[in-house]
Amino acid sequence: MAKLELSGIRKSFGAVDVLKGIDLTVEDGEFVAFVGPSGCGKSTLLRLICGLDEITAGQMAIDGEIVNDVPPAKRGIAMVFQSYALYPHMTVAGNMGYALRLAGVPKEEIHSRVAAAAKVLRIETYLDRKPRQLSGGQRQRVAIGRAIVREPRIFLFDEPLSNLDAALRVEMRIEIARMKEELGTTMVYVTHDQIEAMTLADKIVVLNGGTVEQVGSPLDLYNKPVNRFVAGFIGSPR
Ligand code: ADP
Ligand code: MG
Repeated sequence: MAKLELSGIRKSFGAVDVLKGIDLTVEDGEFVAFVGPSGCGKSTLLRLICGLDEITAGQMAIDGEIVNDVPPAKRGIAMVFQSYALYPHMTVAGNMGYALRLAGVPKEEIHSRVAAAAKVLRIETYLDRKPRQLSGGQRQRVAIGRAIVREPRIFLFDEPLSNLDAALRVEMRIEIARMKEELGTTMVYVTHDQIEAMTLADKIVVLNGGTVEQVGSPLDLYNKPVNRFVAGFIGSPR
């Protein structure tokens, strides 16, 4: 069964049609990258998937269950944004466990989930530090750690690395690849960096003006872009 299934997803803001019918299947454990120009609807689509915004038309299912009317907290989805605000007065462990404390998860379980996530992200030795005592890359890992501890069914990333400098982006790209290997959780990853998409994704979805131009493996898109737009975006010249 597909982990995530989108059928005819439309989204309009007033008279403006932003998403014009998106069909997409994401398999369990798959890493899918959404790429496309600024304003094509990538963030809007992620917001619909996690339930922060309402679908205008179409159907969305997670693990075979239609979730159109399921509130965000019940969807089992965690989202990582490019601007990640950590609580400055809390430690790393405090930041990572915060959502779990709010949800009433028992202390020992919070402790073990935070420890496990810190291990995946290699920030075990920073758990007692405050955010100001961390580098940019370490802070970004804490932000990702907050998502991991929730043990979501799907991770959504909205350009998580675009605020980082080039060297850090490379470091974090490797980190996310490791996270993908170790957790095996389904991930949907928005980026405008084609190298990120090509190196991380099992499947790339090229969006343009609210529609899907092409879906395929990085190699497919590179070797067989269906049109000039896709070729210009990630493929070889055509
Ligand atoms: P992307 O993430 O691909 O850059 P977005 O999904 O953020 O694109 O935006 C797609 C389009 O939808 C843009 O034209 C944007 O102005 C419009 N849009 C997004 N959110 C809203 C909103 N809440 N109200 C009106 N228009 C919006
Ligand atoms: Mg966006």
